[in-house]
Amino acid sequence: MSEAAATVPYDVAIAGGGLVGASLALALAPLGLRIALVEAAVPGAAHPSFDERTTALANGTVRVFRSLGVWRDMEREATPIRRIHVSDQGRFGSARIDAAEQGLEALGYVLPNRVIGAALWAGLGTASGVDVVAPAQVAGSELAADARLLRFEREGSAKALAARLVVAADGVASLVREQAGVGAEHWAYEQTAVTATITTQRFHDHVAYERFTAEGPIAVLPLADGRCGIVWTRRPEEAGRVLALDDAAFLAELQRAFGFRLGRLLRVGARHAYPLALSRSAAHTGERLAIVGNAAQSLHPIAGQGFNLGLRDAASLAEVLADARAAGETDAGAAAPLAAYSRWREEDRRGIVAFTDGLVRLFGNPLGVVRGLRSAGLLAFDAFPPAKSALSRLSVGAAGRVPRLARGVPLTEAR
Ligand SMILES: Cc1cc2nc3c(=O)[nH]c(=O)nc-3n(C[C@H](O)[C@H](O)[C@H](O)COP(=O)(O)OP(=O)(O)OC[C@H]3O[C@@H](n4cnc5c(N)ncnc54)[C@H](O)[C@@H]3O)c2cc1C
Repeated sequence: MSEAAATVPYDVAIAGGGLVGASLALALAPLGLRIALVEAAVPGAAHPSFDERTTALANGTVRVFRSLGVWRDMEREATPIRRIHVSDQGRFGSARIDAAEQGLEALGYVLPNRVIGAALWAGLGTASGVDVVAPAQVAGSELAADARLLRFEREGSAKALAARLVVAADGVASLVREQAGVGAEHWAYEQTAVTATITTQRFHDHVAYERFTAEGPIAVLPLADGRCGIVWTRRPEEAGRVLALDDAAFLAELQRAFGFRLGRLLRVGARHAYPLALSRSAAHTGERLAIVGNAAQSLHPIAGQGFNLGLRDAASLAEVLADARAAGETDAGAAAPLAAYSRWREEDRRGIVAFTDGLVRLFGNPLGVVRGLRSAGLLAFDAFPPAKSALSRLSVGAAGRVPRLARGVPLTEAR
């Protein structure tokens, strides 16, 4: 190790403590690394990553959380998905994916982001070797001798820290990625997701619904208290209109689109809107830089893959760093582990982006012939178990190379 490197105080500095950045800090903590996590917000209802949204977690994600020791704090509010029901408004085609048919306890679990965030931050409070710097606004990042600097503002004064590796986990508009000169492409879908919690006449019975309509898809996810979380995708101007409706009119319009599978829709809570786009960074790494989560890619929520993929970024990065360290590498920002991380993530991301973007395009196309094929496709899909297995494997997050943490194997154990 060079003299300059010996004075670098941190091995890894993570910019952004959202769901992915906080998970990464916990994954790295047992490796004996010196870690800093710099986050602009403090956990709570106003935190941008831990809001009232609900997230569908793949089984692989749950295994990562178990490995990190935070699942027990999430479990009591987690709802298992026993069945997924996919339908197309005005068509007879429907597809059902059954956990038991696949030999699984659940196809995944639904949790409010607020619960996931609170459990992760409680874990950070007791993790060894992690310095949490919050609230602090990251202002920039640049290379220095054997290190990368992370500049930030805290309590009105400008500060900086040096780390062998800086991780950009600062979301879709990542300042750290941009300042490192790694570009990103954005394609706006001209769609907005309207989210809310609803009370239904009939119990959801642990079924997640995905319903495609001419106006856009509706996802209805089962929640622990018997209510359901909805993600209703509309064109931006239509989203603005339904957000402004009173509760009764909103429920009536949602009922027309969703139907009566859950009986009458009785109540709706606060509604929120999220403009949707596909974003993709030009690379997953730079010099002494790794990019994870929404800073690397942000997806349409149609297939519930964004966080699951982002968490695999964190689990894969922790794994390549653990393996490099076990092989004697003392520099967490060395080029070889970063290259391995980059290759791994390119492949996983390519598959998930193609799958998610393909679904958006298939179900966003109003042409009759596409609708007809779509309907036939859904019917064929229900009658064709291997196709269902492939989709549910994807929904449980087990396609391609799976990180050890997502298989429940701690990184401190030999491979
Ligand atoms: C409507 C909707 C539904 C979704 N449903 C699902 C689902 O069911 N399943 C699924 O897998 N995914 C889902 N997703 C995607 C998922 O929410 C995201 O992929 C995930 O939240 C990304 O987490 P992140 O930590 O990478 O980024 P973010 O949540 O954006 O966190 C970034 C963090 O960085 C911090 N930060 C930013 N800039 C700075 C700065 N300059 N200084 C310091 N800190 C900074 C922010 O405060 C924030 O805490 C959904 C998304 C939407 C919009």
